[in-house]
Amino acid sequence: MQCQQCRASRYRRYTRRPAGAARASLCLTLMALLPILRFPDPRLRTVAKPVEQVDDALRALIDDMLQTMYEEPGIGLAATQVDRHVRVIVMDVSEDKSNRKVLINPEIIAASGSQLCKEGCLSVPTVFVEVQRAESVTVRALDRDGQPYEFSASGLEAVCVQHEIDHLDGKVFVDYLTPLKREMAMKKLAKLARAES
Ligand SMILES: [Zn+2]
Repeated sequence: MQCQQCRASRYRRYTRRPAGAARASLCLTLMALLPILRFPDPRLRTVAKPVEQVDDALRALIDDMLQTMYEEPGIGLAATQVDRHVRVIVMDVSEDKSNRKVLINPEIIAASGSQLCKEGCLSVPTVFVEVQRAESVTVRALDRDGQPYEFSASGLEAVCVQHEIDHLDGKVFVDYLTPLKREMAMKKLAKLARAES
């Protein structure tokens, strides 16, 4: 997920970083940037399978997803978006990479209130739309080591976790739009694709 408010400041920080520093960190960590599926790619409609074993291969995927999310920059990324259909999410809604979360087999076990937040998505670039979500959620998941944990989130972090779990269920935030607004979003994406080709 991308947040419209924080996108600009994150982007500025990213572009200020010396190119050499970025290359050095990539070489040291041996992580890889993963290609992100773009809406309306039908693979984004895949319902992800629960993770049965948290092993080194899964941790490598998680590390690559974190690297990809920070580089984009985004505040959340679901495995579905990188064409891996397992129930894994990474997220960090902080401005300084201090609130990194890895969620394996996440479940929302309580939700309350409602909020309207303008959301963006790394799979739907340039499109920002208001979506109604729960204001607060309690989430149960496994961490990077396969240990169960729970946390409560509100505001932007609650929006992010709901947005990312939607991806694992094959849903994209434009599904919440009216047909007319979805068509406008599709036209914007098609224009972007033409500009990039
Ligand atoms: Zn998204």
